[in-house]
Amino acid sequence: MTSEPVHVPQAVFGGDEFWRRLDRLADERGHRGHTRGLVGESQPDNRYRLYCDRCDVAIVEMAVDR
Ligand SMILES: [Zn+2]
Repeated sequence: MTSEPVHVPQAVFGGDEFWRRLDRLADERGHRGHTRGLVGESQPDNRYRLYCDRCDVAIVEMAVDR
């Protein structure tokens, strides 16, 4: 992906509001009802992507601020 990642505060990452926002974003981008998963690692840069299994694309990239 070439777009800038969405910055997510560490305290928000993984919480209820975090998932609500991700679900809404994915729905808005045309992935309603698709199987989606979060992929990424804390090392080296704390970047994560919400990945759509059905479309085989990253829906959004996130940078978690520590
Ligand atoms: Zn999809």
